[in-house]
Amino acid sequence: MKKLNPPNNAQIAALVDIVGEENTLAGDAAFDYTHDETTDISAEPSIVLKPADEAEIAEIMRFANENLIPIVPRGLGTGLAGGSIPFDGAVVLSLERLDKIIEIDTDNLMVVTQPAVITGELQSTLEDMGLFYPPDPASKDSCSIGGNVVTNAGGMTAVKYGITRDYVKGIRAVLPGGERIKYGGKLMKNVAGYDLLHSIIGSEGTLALVTEITLKLLPLPPFGVDLLVGFDSIEKAADAISEIIRKRLIPTAIEFLEGDLVRLVAEALEKDAPMPDAAAHLIISLDAETEDEIERRYFGLGELAMELGAIDVLVADNRPFRERLWDMRRSIREALRAVSPTIVAEDVAVPRSRIPELVDGARKLGEKYGIRVFSFGHAGDGNLHIDALKDDIPDDRWDEIMESYIPELLKLAVDLDGTITAEHGIGWTKKKHLPIGMGEAELALMKRIKEAFDPNGILNSGKAI
Ligand SMILES: Cc1cc2nc3c(=O)[nH]c(=O)nc-3n(C[C@H](O)[C@H](O)[C@H](O)COP(=O)(O)OP(=O)(O)OC[C@H]3O[C@@H](n4cnc5c(N)ncnc54)[C@H](O)[C@@H]3O)c2cc1C
Repeated sequence: MKKLNPPNNAQIAALVDIVGEENTLAGDAAFDYTHDETTDISAEPSIVLKPADEAEIAEIMRFANENLIPIVPRGLGTGLAGGSIPFDGAVVLSLERLDKIIEIDTDNLMVVTQPAVITGELQSTLEDMGLFYPPDPASKDSCSIGGNVVTNAGGMTAVKYGITRDYVKGIRAVLPGGERIKYGGKLMKNVAGYDLLHSIIGSEGTLALVTEITLKLLPLPPFGVDLLVGFDSIEKAADAISEIIRKRLIPTAIEFLEGDLVRLVAEALEKDAPMPDAAAHLIISLDAETEDEIERRYFGLGELAMELGAIDVLVADNRPFRERLWDMRRSIREALRAVSPTIVAEDVAVPRSRIPELVDGARKLGEKYGIRVFSFGHAGDGNLHIDALKDDIPDDRWDEIMESYIPELLKLAVDLDGTITAEHGIGWTKKKHLPIGMGEAELALMKRIKEAFDPNGILNSGKAI
């Protein structure tokens, strides 16, 4: 890789010319672009550019590539691995102005969209037409669909419907050298050539800038119900997840929440905690084509939950109750941050049958290091968010603990046949830990792929690999 340099004044002037001064930010005005949602890391960009379209993006990239200027792509900055932070004076290329839904094609059940459309807004527009784009990260009201594509975001519905990758059928993108490319389209099948589309999905902004996305859609299932199931022990709740999968019930979502966490979130939202004595909860979502089917499914699941030792099952079968439940789930991070502004958030995944061992191992690590560790999240996919709270631990002691705690936690997941990250990606924060989950040959191959896309290493340099 060549040595990169932040742009000098003349180069900044040339970049500003491409997008127009009104579409740039620098200094204090660029504060929002110094960080994402990862706690405790930030860096100042030399300038923020907000291009209007793919042509301007291509021009920026051509200029940056010729002059070895580092470029950091940015969606809406909700990342949890520091992926869009502009270290070393990089230029931030924000996709935020590419925020239009281009076409909803009801003949082919596809949507063509620009990358900065907010995922939740895309979903509700589609739902109004009886259409369904299932992947729903907990950040869906603030993250972009383009960010979802390049982080291959997961979400609550992955148990039944899969993740972002399963819906992307085509993209347009700009390569680091400024070339404009297009892969796929409104196609359910396409095996022409190497599957570069799927190399770009999940590439964390290191291979290309995604400028347009074609997504497959489904008909919106007309009936849905959520169950809140409480257990008097964490073990029983964790075991119930494996048992539900073993029984082949496949709900839309199975989210796991420790009881202490539910109480903490309820307090933050100034609401009463449901089932206040529960040690752990599962939120289980079901959908169906008919009312009879949904009733049959939730009765069956409720009965199974009681057989598995649940203390109670609440059925949320109307919109306000369902929204309250999911608001509680989506408010977890905010609530945790209110009690401890510094959090180390890991998002490991294991085969679903090994969730009980992961929950137990994470709890033991918390005890070993004397820190508060909460596990929650998409347990039905074998994916848990495991958040360690700094609370009032002094900085140097916290850093020392994290030096050992993080690799131990990641190794725990890998030893359970898992992965060090299921959703958030490697970004900046997990780069040094990638060898825990990946062999030398795989790492070397990834580096060669990066070089093929980006020979000068200008795009999101230092991230992901
Ligand atoms: C409260 C909370 C809950 C979350 N829940 C989930 C969850 O359930 N599931 C999940 O997967 N994630 C979750 N996340 C993480 C985050 O929301 C996702 O990673 C999301 O996909 C990031 O989208 P963004 O638009 O904010 O991207 P950014 O944070 O701006 O960027 C993320 C990465 O993508 C690159 N990038 C962004 N847009 C483009 C583009 N168009 N072309 C090329 N590169 C680009 C950036 O360089 C960066 O490396 C959560 C985050 C928060 C704060």
